[in-house]
Amino acid sequence: MAARACGCVKDSLTYYMMYKMLRNRFGYLDWWPGETNDEIIIGAILTQQTSWKNVERALANLKESHAVNLKKIGRMNLKKLENLLKPSGFYHQKARRLKAISKYIYNNYISLDELLSKDRVSLRKELLSLDGVGKETADSIILYAAEKPAFVVDAYARRILNRVYGIDTDIEYDKLCVMIEGAIKRDLGLYKDFHAQLVELGKRHCRLKPVCKGCPINEHCAYFISLTK
Ligand code: SF4
Repeated sequence: MAARACGCVKDSLTYYMMYKMLRNRFGYLDWWPGETNDEIIIGAILTQQTSWKNVERALANLKESHAVNLKKIGRMNLKKLENLLKPSGFYHQKARRLKAISKYIYNNYISLDELLSKDRVSLRKELLSLDGVGKETADSIILYAAEKPAFVVDAYARRILNRVYGIDTDIEYDKLCVMIEGAIKRDLGLYKDFHAQLVELGKRHCRLKPVCKGCPINEHCAYFISLTK
């Protein structure tokens, strides 16, 4: 199914075509910074309301304390954990969230892997029942830690899809997921790399103030086309 554009997108650029054009420019990215599933989940919580640079500083503190581990975080003194997480901002809240996630996992499962091995739909439902785990965080955990295909709708994706296709930035999260997941093959590698490509585009070109010159999809972007008319 082709992407539904706002009517002014040249050549009706499909989501998959957009992905291919980004990949041709940026190369295969397929990333989430994190060496272990614990680190991926901790990073997904810490990245809420802050930049990744700040997350890296908090993760470095945890690494220095040998505590990039949800089980250890669950047992750690709260004040100590808060101090380690300080660079990521909202550290009181994030420390409590991580402790609550740890408690939930180890009260209900033998291991983190047991939780992550659940099917995608059940896992999402369970993650969303945890304090501080919203849809974007849950889908990041499902995609990168559980390695199951879930499209992650973050601020970059919303901004780019709004400018390229005219999709409302306030569109309901699940509605946007259905639109994208219905239009591209449900494939783990593709979903990971597509997310990474959108982040790359958002950082290099589609910033708050867009740098459209040299953007790999500018000829197909409704925003850019409207500027050149
Ligand atoms: S052409 Fe400009 S507005 Fe469109 S996606 Fe590229 S950077 Fe964003």
